[in-house]
Amino acid sequence: MTNSPMRRTNLLKEFSYLFFPNVCAVCGEELLRAEEGVCLRCLYQLPRTNNFREEENAAEKLMAGRIPFVRIASFCVYAKGGILPPLIHQLKYHHQPDIGILLGRVYGEDLLGSDFLKTVDIIVPVPLHPTKEKSRGYNQAEMIAMGLSDATSLPFSAGNLIRVVYNPTQTKRTKTQRWENVKDIFKVEDPEAYADKHLLLVDDVITTGSTLEACGVALQSCSNVKISIATLGEVF
Ligand SMILES: [Zn+2]
Repeated sequence: MTNSPMRRTNLLKEFSYLFFPNVCAVCGEELLRAEEGVCLRCLYQLPRTNNFREEENAAEKLMAGRIPFVRIASFCVYAKGGILPPLIHQLKYHHQPDIGILLGRVYGEDLLGSDFLKTVDIIVPVPLHPTKEKSRGYNQAEMIAMGLSDATSLPFSAGNLIRVVYNPTQTKRTKTQRWENVKDIFKVEDPEAYADKHLLLVDDVITTGSTLEACGVALQSCSNVKISIATLGEVF
């Protein structure tokens, strides 16, 4: 016996309702029909940095000299008690991948037509270790990359940059120890695929920058690759 297409559609709808309740993930108010996951009022109140317009912004200063990059930008300030932390928390720990897609799309709309994206060829999410991705059900950075790709029409590529080492602990380590810890975490399966490309590396939040640095190091195996970075939040 096979399922009818109608039945499958209904199941999908129920499935998405299960993980995406019809209230705003920030303020808890009921959503309007056109709103998805977060109400427009909360989206409007997100503390945007707009630092894609600002050369030598704080994120770029943080990463300067660690890996070669073209530009780095973060969508919002990740401030305690602010709007972004609960959203990132739901994206990562409460099985709400749609929040990543939504925020990626909103950020993509901000970036659209700016110099920041001008020469970018491919969007590449920071990968999770397969074990972690399996337990979470998805990679949150990939959800953000999907939203960015949706808004900008730039292709995104997952599965070529891979994480080979499971999450090492980052707490209470010196800068040198952190570096020793992360330098061989990532690997590029097919370096040819990224040769001569300008990649936009995407992650949820930039804090110490060591994960992005480790990705950048792995990506140096691709000849003449250029790297820019975009994250949803920045914590410095
Ligand atoms: Zn709201």
